[in-house]
Amino acid sequence: MTTAPDPAMSRAPGPAPARHLFVSDVHLDDGAPEAQRQFLDFLRTEAAGARALYILGDLFEAWVGDDDGSGDRASVLAALRDLTGSGVACFLLHGNRDFLIGDDFCRRTGCQLLPDPVIAELDGERVLLTHGDALCTDDHAYQELRTTVRTPIWQRRFLSLPLPDRQLLASEARAGSRAHTTRTIPQIMDVNAAAVAAAFAAARVSRMIHGHTHRPAVHDALLEGRPVQRIVLGAWYEQGSYLIREAGRYELRTLPR
Ligand code: MN
Repeated sequence: MTTAPDPAMSRAPGPAPARHLFVSDVHLDDGAPEAQRQFLDFLRTEAAGARALYILGDLFEAWVGDDDGSGDRASVLAALRDLTGSGVACFLLHGNRDFLIGDDFCRRTGCQLLPDPVIAELDGERVLLTHGDALCTDDHAYQELRTTVRTPIWQRRFLSLPLPDRQLLASEARAGSRAHTTRTIPQIMDVNAAAVAAAFAAARVSRMIHGHTHRPAVHDALLEGRPVQRIVLGAWYEQGSYLIREAGRYELRTLPR
């Protein structure tokens, strides 16, 4: 499994303990300007004092290609550029909504795209990071769709379509996703316990952080007698939400809106 670079290596140690921040499921969308304002604020305040920001997928409600400059995307890209330009490392994983974020996005923002899943080294602690959708193995319909849209041939064909066609297809896909979410029982859309156990075992870590399910929580468990912890990040639909790691301690925080 891939290991993410440690931003500590490229930055001189400061007097204050390093902060690592994690967000996911911000779902930035022109139809939700308050969430967008709050996220830009978060980048300029909390994130600006961090060593690194990890965005674990679904930063955008939809992303149909790096050539889509519609809406407020430019201000989001500029804010990320300001953050990375000030020396805060920013890492990004694909979510199920924005898996078409590509090299051009990274070049313009200074963010580094990481594979999903990936192991991050945080002050020497190995932590598994993943968006989380791949753990929802009980949702067979979704997993089938995921397999299709992650193939290079599907992505090449989709990206070769004119931008307005891609935007239309994305809004149809979102409507389809809403319908699927409405008629699928909630347990089906949560992570599968065996998939979680397999991910812990494959990565040989005792902590994982993911989003996607919009059920922020810290789950402690024993896996074959070994204590493991799964931290789930929250979505930004109703309020801001992030995880902070400081001096080896983790805390989920909400930002009221
Ligand atoms: Mn998701």
